[in-house]
Amino acid sequence: MAAQHRTVYMCEVCLTASDTQMMHHGRLMIECDAGSPGDDRTQPLFDAAGRLLTHAPKWWVFRHRHTSDTPSH
Ligand SMILES: [Zn+2]
Repeated sequence: MAAQHRTVYMCEVCLTASDTQMMHHGRLMIECDAGSPGDDRTQPLFDAAGRLLTHAPKWWVFRHRHTSDTPSH
């Protein structure tokens, strides 16, 4: 079961996306697991009332989750 996950690299300064990791604005682009096409992770985030919270897909919104050292609650 090899899901075809896409890995996207992004510059946190100018949000340029790339298929390959490289230096941008003096720092290494961050690696993001963009999920597979049609994956829930590729959908934008909605709140409980169904309002759009962000146009960015979830994998981008939560990109800092696993590196955060302070729990959100
Ligand atoms: Zn950049």
